[in-house]
Amino acid sequence: MATPRSVSKVVVVGGGIFGVSSAVHLARLGIQTVLVNDGPLAKGASGRSLAWLNSARKRSAEYHRLRMIGIDRYRTLSARYPDAAWLRFDGGLTWDADDASNEIDDVFAHEKDLGYDAQHLSADAIASVTPGVAASAVTPQGAIFNPGEGWVDLPSLIEILIAEFVERGGQLVTDAGSAAVTVVDGRATGVTTTSGISLAADAILLATGGDVPRMVADSRQYIADGTPIALLVRTKPVDLPLRAVLNTPRVAIRPTPDGALALDSAWSEEEVVVNSDGTYSVKTSTIQGLLNEASNVIEGHPKLELQSYGVGPKPIPGDGEPVFGQLKDIQGYYVAFSHSGATLGLIAGELLAGEIASGIEHPLLANFRPSRF
Ligand SMILES: Cc1cc2nc3c(=O)[nH]c(=O)nc-3n(C[C@H](O)[C@H](O)[C@H](O)COP(=O)(O)OP(=O)(O)OC[C@H]3O[C@@H](n4cnc5c(N)ncnc54)[C@H](O)[C@@H]3O)c2cc1C
Repeated sequence: MATPRSVSKVVVVGGGIFGVSSAVHLARLGIQTVLVNDGPLAKGASGRSLAWLNSARKRSAEYHRLRMIGIDRYRTLSARYPDAAWLRFDGGLTWDADDASNEIDDVFAHEKDLGYDAQHLSADAIASVTPGVAASAVTPQGAIFNPGEGWVDLPSLIEILIAEFVERGGQLVTDAGSAAVTVVDGRATGVTTTSGISLAADAILLATGGDVPRMVADSRQYIADGTPIALLVRTKPVDLPLRAVLNTPRVAIRPTPDGALALDSAWSEEEVVVNSDGTYSVKTSTIQGLLNEASNVIEGHPKLELQSYGVGPKPIPGDGEPVFGQLKDIQGYYVAFSHSGATLGLIAGELLAGEIASGIEHPLLANFRPSRF
């Protein structure tokens, strides 16, 4: 389905990082583009992401390559905004639990084989490499420091990208109500929304985060879904020397632009209750537990206080790998659905915009097509 064709008007549905990044890249290519979002921008996963920029640990070679190119695009952006408080490359530090699940030796060997910048450090060596970590919390197997890793504040990035989109003539429609893609005779022809907006287009990009599998199912297409409900806790600003992203057995931590911390973990995610009406309940004990876990791994064990939290779907395809490109059976209907959307946000938008504009499939996305399901 890689027939080159003429595309002059595109509608992007979804105002998270994939939708916004794709929209600005389409505008850069001179394509008339409308971005439609049901609420304000970044109200989905992109507004409550840990957003650690990395390709740490093990995955397929193709996925690793895409993530590394994704990080490269952030490096370029960082060179344009060297003083940005919303994009930092201060490295990442990882350690595992002191039990049979500990993979630090193995992961370190793997990362060295790939040429992924990695240092294997004992607890007492960490302070000389990256500040602010409680050495007593690090397990005997030691930690891996990856100096090339970083983090991004996605709402800030989205604001910058959308300003360029609008400046280039892109049309932004927020609070549009829920959008649905119209398909006629095996071709996507436009988008309608529950607020009565109707837009015709030569191609549609569906970038609605965790809603993608359900929405393509309306057109009898199948994408396996492994989306969990995730929790991100934000602390009040706290004066700490910590700069790296920490990935530890009980909590992941990254600094934020306003001098606070963002926290998440697998166990706290599992404690979120999904109510029968589709709303979520988060226990005070879960939030306090996460704040305590974070304090435990930070030097001096500072008192951390809750500022706010975000809860909702974390888009993850059923097989864990990204889903990018045109649906097999519907001409002009493209999707973007992936975990690690912070790391992939810039590169995925660039490659998808290129595919939509030219009709030519990019080889870097060959392993990530929706047709594999
Ligand atoms: C807690 C957490 C931690 C994470 N950690 C990392 C990490 O460390 N590193 C990393 O790289 N990634 C991480 N991610 C993943 C990353 O944040 C996501 O992959 C990325 O933000 C997804 O962006 P998106 O554009 O696909 O979706 P979203 O940001 O969810 O955006 C989808 C948008 O579509 C809109 N929408 C939905 N349905 C409709 C509809 N019918 N009509 C109109 N609009 C609609 C929503 O309002 C939303 O604005 C994390 C995510 C979470 C939640």
